[in-house]
Amino acid sequence: MSSAPKFVVLLGPPGAGKGTQAAFLREILGVPHVASGDLFREHLLNKTKFGRQVVSYIERGELVPDDLTTAMVMERLAQPDCQHGALLDGFPRTLGQAVALDEALAKQGHRICQVLNIVVPDEVLVERLSGRRVCRKCGAVYHIVHNPPHQDGACDRCGGELYQRDDDRPGTVRYRLKVYWEQTSPLIDYYKKQGVLVEINGNQSIEGVQAELKAAVTCDGRG
Ligand code: ADP
Ligand code: ADP
Ligand code: ZN
Repeated sequence: MSSAPKFVVLLGPPGAGKGTQAAFLREILGVPHVASGDLFREHLLNKTKFGRQVVSYIERGELVPDDLTTAMVMERLAQPDCQHGALLDGFPRTLGQAVALDEALAKQGHRICQVLNIVVPDEVLVERLSGRRVCRKCGAVYHIVHNPPHQDGACDRCGGELYQRDDDRPGTVRYRLKVYWEQTSPLIDYYKKQGVLVEINGNQSIEGVQAELKAAVTCDGRG
């Protein structure tokens, strides 16, 4: 029996824990994790032409323009592994992107099944982003205090080197939160009106957030 495709959006400010929870959600949903930030960083790493077009925005903590971002994510969603849906993380981040996504899905007779909004106060976000470390090799996410690796500076999963993202320095972090409130937070109302928004308390332990997400997800075949 084939079920409806599962397009689920992870919403929430930078540092809310979207990437951290994505691995587990991808498992229960059975769809790929599509993170716009990861797609951008892949371009930067591979020094593509597209990467050169977007690097200055990312370094400043600004949003990449909608047309470039939407084209990149749509190209990813057109890959065969996304035909049964995707877990979107970091996209959409503006109303323009949200409308473009709705229109693109509607053209294929699909729609967003659920938007999981992870809510965390700004002060907590600054502390989380400043202590975030990421594996260069596999992208696994750590925190120097809240989720440290077993061995300093090395990834538990693959042994890769852990690094601090340039845009996780305190000055850029504050700016990214301002950008979130101005440009991304209006999506909360947008999705509320569509009746697909669920709020998750992200200001608790990683396991606590996971349990709340597990109870809230209705797109795993039950819904
Ligand atoms: P975080 O996980 O901290 O929220 P991301 O890895 O999602 O950050 O994004 C890193 C940067 O990539 C953003 O600050 C922005 O410059 C760019 N970016 C990611 N997603 C989008 C998007 N949907 N629209 C515009 N820019 C984006
Ligand atoms: P996002 O993808 O939303 O930007 P991340 O998943 O990268 O957020 O998490 C940001 C930082 O906060 C990381 O260092 C991560 O280890 C840490 N973190 C994630 N969830 C929690 C939590 N519930 N409690 C404490 N720290 C957390
Ligand atoms: Zn790793």
